[in-house]
Amino acid sequence: MEAVLDRRIARDLKTLARFIQLYCNDMHADQPRQPVTMRTHDVKEIAGREIVLCPSCTKLLQHGFTKRTHCTMDPKPTCKNCPKHCYAPTYREQIRQVMRHSGTKMLYRGRIDYLFHIFF
Ligand SMILES: [Zn+2]
Repeated sequence: MEAVLDRRIARDLKTLARFIQLYCNDMHADQPRQPVTMRTHDVKEIAGREIVLCPSCTKLLQHGFTKRTHCTMDPKPTCKNCPKHCYAPTYREQIRQVMRHSGTKMLYRGRIDYLFHIFF
């Protein structure tokens, strides 16, 4: 666990975790799900609650956390406009679906504070 996460990174990770949680709740409720843990991040601390996901969403979250934490672009552009595209293609498609699903849902609920401009 790194001593202090940059505040912006911490905020992005929290949003990312909650988006994936919402998506997994809706799409994968029939799959076995477990609390997500990482060697490098205290997921529960970062998200402000336990994040419980299916295996494939767990991998996506871990990939996203790692990529976001190690993003070298400063200020960070939206991923869509980033020249690097650090997400592996399969994860990129997956995260796009998560953003579309959860982003739309948050919008309907009026959770504009969650409006996600960081990823896609
Ligand atoms: Zn899932």
